[in-house]
Parts: sequence; C-alpha cells; structure tokens
Amino acid sequence: MTPQANSTASRDIASHLHPYTNLEALAQNGPLVIERGEGIRVFDDEGNPYIEAMSGLWCTSLGWGEERLVEAAARQMRRLGFYHCFTAKVPDVTVDLAERLLALAPVPMSKVFFANSGSEAIDTALKLVWYLNNKRARPEKKKVIARHKAYHGVTIGSASLTGLPLNHRDFDLPIKGVLHTDCPHYYRFAEADESEEDFATRLARNLEKLILDEGPETVAAFFAEPVMGAGGVIVPPATYFQKIQAILKKYDVLLIADEVICGFGRTANMWGSETFSLKPDMMTMAKALSSGYLPISALMVSEEIYTDVREHSATLGTFAHGFTYSGHPVSCAVALETLKIYEERNILGHVRRVSPAFQDMLRRYRDHPLVGEARGVGLVGALELVRDKSTRESFAPADGVGARLVTQAQKNGLIVRALGDSIALSPPLIITEDEISDIARRLGAALDATA
Ligand code: PLP
Repeated sequence: MTPQANSTASRDIASHLHPYTNLEALAQNGPLVIERGEGIRVFDDEGNPYIEAMSGLWCTSLGWGEERLVEAAARQMRRLGFYHCFTAKVPDVTVDLAERLLALAPVPMSKVFFANSGSEAIDTALKLVWYLNNKRARPEKKKVIARHKAYHGVTIGSASLTGLPLNHRDFDLPIKGVLHTDCPHYYRFAEADESEEDFATRLARNLEKLILDEGPETVAAFFAEPVMGAGGVIVPPATYFQKIQAILKKYDVLLIADEVICGFGRTANMWGSETFSLKPDMMTMAKALSSGYLPISALMVSEEIYTDVREHSATLGTFAHGFTYSGHPVSCAVALETLKIYEERNILGHVRRVSPAFQDMLRRYRDHPLVGEARGVGLVGALELVRDKSTRESFAPADGVGARLVTQAQKNGLIVRALGDSIALSPPLIITEDEISDIARRLGAALDATA
C-alpha cells in the first residue's frame, strides 16, 4: 500500500536510507512507523498495538517505558552529559560500570573496554588479536575463524567474521585472513543417522583440519556466539563447545565469545557462555546491557591479554584505539541502572520460570505443516519453515515465506523477525506466561494464514 502524501511513512521514503531493509519494497510500501512503547508492546502512528516479540533487535530486555532508565539518563545528563576516557581521564560512572561487569563475568576477566555497538566491540577484539600477536613476536599468527551463519556485525572486520553471504556480497568482503568453518545446526547439516554427539565430533574434527591446513602457526582466534542469533537462532549440540575448545587449546587459538544477544539472561543464565560451557579469553556484549535504551557495548579481556596490551602499548607510546563515545557517561548510567533492575527484580529467576512455557509454545508448532524445526533455549527461539517436512526441503528463496509470515503476524499485532526461512522470537525478558499465550495465538493464526 503506497503511503499517503506527507505522512511520516512517505517522508521517510523521501529522506532516509534504511539499514537492513529491502529498499525497493520500502520505496513501494513505506515503513511501519512506531511512535511509542509500553511494556512488551509498541504502538504505530495510528495507535495500533503490537506485541514486540523480538525486543526490537534482541535488545529491549526490560520492555518499553521503564521510568528508572529514563531517570538514570536524565540524572546523568544533568551531572555530566559527556566526558571521555582518552588520555587518562574517565567519568566516575564508567568506572562503576566496568567494576560491575567484571563482577558478573562468567570466567575471571581483567579489564573492560567500552564501545557503542556490537560491531565495534567485535572489531576491537579482532584488532587486539592482531596487536597481541605482534607483541608476542609471531606476526604470522593472525588468521581468525568464525562460522558459516555467524552474525558479528557490519563494520569491515565484524562483517568479515559474519558468515552470511548477503553481508559479504558486493561489499568486497570478507577481508583476507578471515576463515569460516561449519555451522553447528544439527537439523540442517547432520548426516543421515549421525547422532548430535557424532555431529559435534565431526565439526570439531573439521575445525582441526582447517587449522592444520592453514598451519596452526597462522591461526590466532575463533569467534563464536554461544547461540547463533541472526543466522537463525541455532542452538549447538550439548557437547559442541567442549569439543571445539579442546581443539582451540591444542593449537593455542584464542576464544572470543560474542555475547551480544546471549548476554544478560537471554538463555536463562547470565551468559550464554555459562549455558554452553565456554571459557572465553575475551567476550563482547551490547544490546541488553542497556536494555537497548542507549547505545553501549563492551569487550572484556583476560589478565593475560591485558598484560600484553599494556606492555605493548608502553613500547609504542600509547594504546591507539578507542571511540569518542567509549564509556559515555549517560550510556554507562543507563547500563548500571539496567543491571541494578535485573538484580532487584531477579530477572534471571523470572526468565527461568517463564522460559519453559515459551519453549513449549514454540515446540507445539512442530506439528504444523509449515514448520520443520522448532528450536531455542531460555527466551530465544525460532521456527524453521520448510516446503516438505519429511525431506526438510526448504522453500525457494523467491517464495519469501518468512517475509510473508512476518506480514501476517504484523496484521495480527505481533512483531517477529524473518531470518531467511526461520522466524525468530526473542521477547522482552519481563514477558509473562499470559503474554506468551497471547503470542502463541497470534503466531498460530499467522502460520495458518501463510500455509
Ligand atoms: N554480534 C551479535 C551476536 C549480534 O547479534 C549483533 C547484532 O545483532 C552484533 C554483534 C552487532 O551489533 P551492532 O548491530 O550493535 O553493531
């Protein structure tokens, strides 16, 4: 439907280059204009409510209209609206947040570096990997491995690590030295009669072969989301990370856990690394760190890594990396308040209580003719739509089944996200069981209308 002249939607078409959008379809139909939010719902410019079952972009964990976050931002803006962390200066609140995050780390971590987005945190980790290996006098150990279907961001480094063809195609990516190994999606990639355990063993063996083929002296780091998010909410087999980490250890390859989606309770533990037994050398976080209310991300590094960075920067004169808004005081104040709310309201306990209902709800659609697999953990999950359940045959890309389902859901007042043919759900962590039932009704109706 073409938007009315002078409406917000038509002005948007005329003025705004949208991120992550089919620009042709946008130019025809215009965007959904969202005006305000309350709890787990957002409202469009005609006042229609939608259950936001994606927390925006996997981030608004406390839902919309959380007054304490508004107040925390306003208070900090009045006190100190901006200061920076360059040349040995720091806002006090940035120190408070760094300490708080270190106390929450799943393995001992030494220092926190702040940035503004997940992509920047990942690029920082990548640059540190290179910096470290220069300091360690092994300049050839610079290659990094990520996985097909990984999502790590869109800057040049993070998009190179991302394992989705659309993020590379015609952007002249990935950059040299970024390699991709298997995606741990059992439903899609297991061989006939292969158990999950055997599948995980084969993937670890393939990783070892890749490292050996490249030369272990050239491979520096492995980047992984505990649960792959934008690649389709892919939950790895139970023993996958244990097997992968044994290989990484054997060849002195660092593990960087990308907790941008999993961090802060999404998988029913504080970190995805706890749910899937990762022991990372560095870890990235963003999104739910501030409940999405302000941009902020962080990278935590181990003592060993910090010591080398410190010593190397002493030799070079300065650690010449950082963003104007690294450790922005207002973002830090909002993040601190977010963490305080998680603790005071026992959000983790709440997620543990309601997530079985959420996972049951998804798995009830297993019998639906369109659904090949229902998967997830905690409060994140996906339905994979297939043309043929028995053969697991996918729809042709031109069919756009995921986009069709999203449109149907939107008509039913439900926002979900299509990731290829998988429909992702990642609702605010404050969701109740009644609201999960409400999602089920709307999702079921959208599935029936799409079939
Ligand atoms: N890493 C993961 C796991 C993500 O899901 C995302 C974004 O969705 C990113 C990194 C990139 O974060 P940003 O979009 O804030 O740059």
